[in-house]
Amino acid sequence: MKHLILFGAPGSGKGTQSTHIAETYRLKHLSTGDMLRAEIAKQSQLGLLADTYISQGLLLPDALIIDLLKNTLQQLSEDTKGIVLDGFPRTVAQAVALDSLVAELNQEILMLIEITVDTSELIERLVQRGKLSGRSDDNPATIKHRLEVYHQQTEPVIDFYKQAGKYFHVDGNGTIEQIFERICLILDQLVAVKVKHNSTLSQL
Ligand code: ADP
Repeated sequence: MKHLILFGAPGSGKGTQSTHIAETYRLKHLSTGDMLRAEIAKQSQLGLLADTYISQGLLLPDALIIDLLKNTLQQLSEDTKGIVLDGFPRTVAQAVALDSLVAELNQEILMLIEITVDTSELIERLVQRGKLSGRSDDNPATIKHRLEVYHQQTEPVIDFYKQAGKYFHVDGNGTIEQIFERICLILDQLVAVKVKHNSTLSQL
């Protein structure tokens, strides 16, 4: 199983693009934010705890979220080709844990694609989303804090994948379709390279 990571600041469009990628390339979309919000809706023990972090714009403790991901990766059905990871890893510790986890399970991280969007546009999108979604973290004060947390704790993850030669980048300004095309270009090139080298993996 080969996974890909969609990476970017809150509001960069990871969720939207992950859905498109998953449909087009027949991968499974796994959003840690969505998983946590489902737990909150169920009012499970994890959900109640997650809510206290999310509503403040804080990340959940690494151990907790790594455990959640571990369970999910272990339970993937045999016919899953791979996953689009959306919202994980969000710290270097999570990236390190993911590396050993996939190795243990005989899976692989193919690449990380970062979507970059201007900060003013990010804030605008999140404020607009907040009006519709009613998400507890889409309000101006929490948005500011989430962006700070992103710069401090999440951006360093980029270097981890750069060093592994797995980092790719797309400009996230533009329409949903334009950005999706940019992502497809990267993914299709990868498939083409694999086919050329007669790899057993002829598709993503
Ligand atoms: P966004 O990327 O728009 O901020 P997400 O839906 O991906 O939103 O995540 C919402 C919140 O869920 C995060 O702000 C954080 O509190 C929590 N969360 C999601 N993924 C993780 C993670 N990998 N590690 C820690 N906390 C997480």
